[in-house]
Amino acid sequence: MIPTLWLLAMAPPALAEGRHVMDAPLPPPPAALTASSTPRGRTLGKPTTLFVNFDGVKLSDCNPSNSKANCHWYNNEEPIPPFTGSVQTKVSVLQAMRRDTADFGIRITALRPPESEDYTMVVYGGTEAEYGALGSAPSGDCLDQRPNEIAFAHVDGDLADWINGGATTALHEAAHSWGLDHVDGDHTVMFPTGDDQPTAFGRECYGVVADIHLNPGMASCPELNQELCADDHAQNAPLVLERLFGGPYVDVRAPTIELLEPADGQYFQAPADFDVRLEIRDDLHPQVYDASLWLGDEPKPEPRPFIEDHFAVAGLPVGTWAFHVELTDEAGNTSRLDFEIEVGEDPPPEPTQDDRGCAVARAQAGPAGAGGGVSGPWLLVVLLLPTLARRRGPR
Ligand SMILES: [Zn+2]
Repeated sequence: MIPTLWLLAMAPPALAEGRHVMDAPLPPPPAALTASSTPRGRTLGKPTTLFVNFDGVKLSDCNPSNSKANCHWYNNEEPIPPFTGSVQTKVSVLQAMRRDTADFGIRITALRPPESEDYTMVVYGGTEAEYGALGSAPSGDCLDQRPNEIAFAHVDGDLADWINGGATTALHEAAHSWGLDHVDGDHTVMFPTGDDQPTAFGRECYGVVADIHLNPGMASCPELNQELCADDHAQNAPLVLERLFGGPYVDVRAPTIELLEPADGQYFQAPADFDVRLEIRDDLHPQVYDASLWLGDEPKPEPRPFIEDHFAVAGLPVGTWAFHVELTDEAGNTSRLDFEIEVGEDPPPEPTQDDRGCAVARAQAGPAGAGGGVSGPWLLVVLLLPTLARRRGPR
């Protein structure tokens, strides 16, 4: 529904050097609700989930927006492509967001939550140039009575390396969807312009402003502001977030690790080179896990930081190899995966017709770990060397 020209025709406002406008103005919402589900409100003081969608999305049309149904009353004409930044950037943005919200019951994940759970979705993709500002969001929802709204952070393209600015934008837009307004506290998350400097929500009552020139504005939640700041037009974001979502979200769930490739027990010809691909899930995924990878009954090595979902094995000699992978999340919850690989002198048996079909499908899906960083391969090769050196020695 969005008239594309309307966004492109906006005159860029004069800003301090390096500053970017936070919000693209929204087209007027459609007069009628076309809700795909009935908003059911929020129980104050209960934690929420913020899903940062780096994977791209095609939205259909509805009002109000609905994260579970992937629909919105604007930005629904063209698909928003996946964010082009690295895994490291995504994890760093999430870490910065989690730091800013550490005092509140806000779970931040890049894995889409299950259908049974309410969640705000920030679509992290598209560029400032395409959308006319760093982001946008539906606002005015005092006390987050529509807990499944969708907001946007357009920090791809020239800004794809932003960490602080990406985190600020995603939180700023999510907070609009929770009913928070712009305030005049510079370098706080709800300031109407931003850059790549670190921000915080700012534990003060700041004046609510209407625009980037900081003219006083109407508050979405005057009664709450009166209660928390003794002023209808002053907002204390941390107190509001605490009222909405309660105290810190505590991660007590261990990650789960599933082996995608190769199969447990798979045979390779020596020397065996292959990628191990894992599906890692956690309530705070992705993040920097502490990973230990080792073979057989060798002692478990010291853990190393691990953010990828794959690692490379190179030059594995003849033998039956027991692999062990142990991951500890940032809260200290640990999980372990064990599997076996057979390596022999002979080439693997000819695949059956069924196997061949499977192999073709796999090849079309692209090489395992495409687009990943170097930390995976580096990790296991380093770890294997001492093991193999010992095994090759006299017995
Ligand atoms: Zn804003």
